[in-house]
Formats: sequence, structure tokens, C-alpha cells
Amino acid sequence: MHFEIKTLHLSEPFRIAHGTSATRQVLRVSNGELVTEAPFVPYYGEDPALTLAVLNQAVLPEVLPRTAGLALNLLRHDIIGHQTGRTLAAYAESKLGMPVHHTPPGCRSFSIPEDLDVFADKVREIATQFPVLKLKLGSGDLGLDIATVSVARYAAPHAKLLLDVNGGWDMAEAPLMIEKVAEYSPTLIEQPIHHRLGVDGWEELRALLPGNPPPIFADESVQTVEDVIALADFVDGVNIKLLKSGSLDAAVAMIAAAKEHSLQILLGCMIETSLGTTAAAHLAPWADWIDLDGHFYVADDDFTGITYDASGNLIMPNRPGIGAVPR
Ligand SMILES: [Mg+2]
Repeated sequence: MHFEIKTLHLSEPFRIAHGTSATRQVLRVSNGELVTEAPFVPYYGEDPALTLAVLNQAVLPEVLPRTAGLALNLLRHDIIGHQTGRTLAAYAESKLGMPVHHTPPGCRSFSIPEDLDVFADKVREIATQFPVLKLKLGSGDLGLDIATVSVARYAAPHAKLLLDVNGGWDMAEAPLMIEKVAEYSPTLIEQPIHHRLGVDGWEELRALLPGNPPPIFADESVQTVEDVIALADFVDGVNIKLLKSGSLDAAVAMIAAAKEHSLQILLGCMIETSLGTTAAAHLAPWADWIDLDGHFYVADDDFTGITYDASGNLIMPNRPGIGAVPR
């Protein structure tokens, strides 16, 4: 088994409520033939060098760092996929049953804008291909947050707008901001309040919301099946990502729990290469919305996997396992 840390260079700095990044690191795990990837995100604070040291021990500990656990889990699934000629989606289908609707349309994300004119041009251009646009809010400047939504709405009148606050509003701001941005008909609002407010925070927010608010989704607050169940009465949907779940199996279990509680599912990813986003994309048929564009922000994406057609529809590679291959 071979372990490696790879530094990805972003095509432009990516700013969200948690901070700004110009590079990201991913863990690559290989059995000499197949290779898988899991990203390090600043949010979990896992140290790449420390993760590598753990993996290079003679005996692996029972509880692995999150990134290491995911990369090894994906390698197991990729190996089985290649042995059986089946995709990761076939594994998901064996657990979740046949998908009941079409794979949702592709989405592109925009980091918190620096210049609203430049942002408007970019929104206009991307909206010619992608019907769903995700806007990062929580800039710390409520006026900029509203302007971001307003500019995007006028630049892309027909786009579905997913608003992701990344916990950037406090309990006094969130209900007012949700009411304000609702004027621009967003499709959903993700993680308006900080995850450290816990389930109580969500309960409080729900009680403060105006009548008939846009669907509210939890992201950072939902890490496990238990979180899905605990929040089911207070949110309309959950964002599920491989890294948060820690494994494909756990992500599938979270999807099953969300469906059981009639929650919508947004399938997300981190900033990672096509190797990472393609692994996640196998779960897309069970999602209501997808946000699988992490590889578009990587200037040196060394894999090829999922693509989007001219109308923004997700195209899966026609290969077993994860299905992404080196460029
Ligand atoms: Mg999010």
C-alpha cells in the first residue's frame, strides 16, 4: 500500500465563511494498481503529515484519521468494483434500491465575491451551461450577502439558486436574512447558523422563521446518521458528503436515514480532484440536488472522471469502481 499527500493549486482563491484558500491537500492511497483520494479540509483541522505518519505505522490504529479512513474505504470499494465489473453506484443501489427520479441537474459554486461586476459576468457565463448555481454567503457583511444574491438573480433570472451561508449568520441575523433573501426565490438555504449552536439552535431558528420560508438545509451540523435523525424536525434537507460521513457506506446510510425522515438530499463534495468528485457522484441518482464541482477549482486536476454536457447534465464515466483515471 502506498500513501501520498498531494498539494492542489486552486485556479483562483476560494473564499467562504470559514476562510480563504489558495491551495488544498489531498491524501492519495494506492495498492500499486488503483488509487483513491480523500481531501483535507481546514474545517476538520487534520494534519496531512500526521495522517501520513499514522498510515505508515506497521499496525494501523482502530480509529483512523477521517481522511485516511475515507481513502482506504474508497480503495476497498474500487477494488471490489474492478473485481466484479460494477460501479460504486451499483453498490449504493444494492443498499438504497433503484433511484426513483432522474439524476439532478449539475451545479456550479461561486465563492464570496470580491467584485460584484466581475461576479455578475461570471454568473451570466456559467448559467448558460448550468441550471443550478450555488452562492457562498456568510461574508461577515450582510449587505454584501444580499447584494450577492440580488446580482446573481438578475444575472441569471431562471437559475435555481442554492445559498450556502456556511454558518455565517447569528441567531439574530438568520431569520431576517432568510426573509430578505427569500425575495429572490432561492431554491434552498444551507447552514444559515453555526453548527456549534447544536440541535437547540436549529429548533430556535425554526421557531423564529417567517411563514413559508425557503427550504432550509443543514450541512456542517450533519456529520452522522444520528445528526440526520436529530435534525429531521427542524430542517428540510441535509447536505451529504463522503468526507463528512467518513466512508461510502456511512454516506449511503445517511442517505437512507434522510429518505426515511422525508428529508431532501443535497450531495456535496469538497475541493478535490476528479478522482474525489467522481467517487461521490455515484450517489447522485439518490440526491435531490448535487454540488459536485470541486475539481473545477483545481488548476492541476490530474484525473478525469465525471463531466457535464452543454446543458449541465452530469455524465458518469463508463468504467467499473470509481471510474476516474489519470489524465
Ligand atoms: Mg455547505
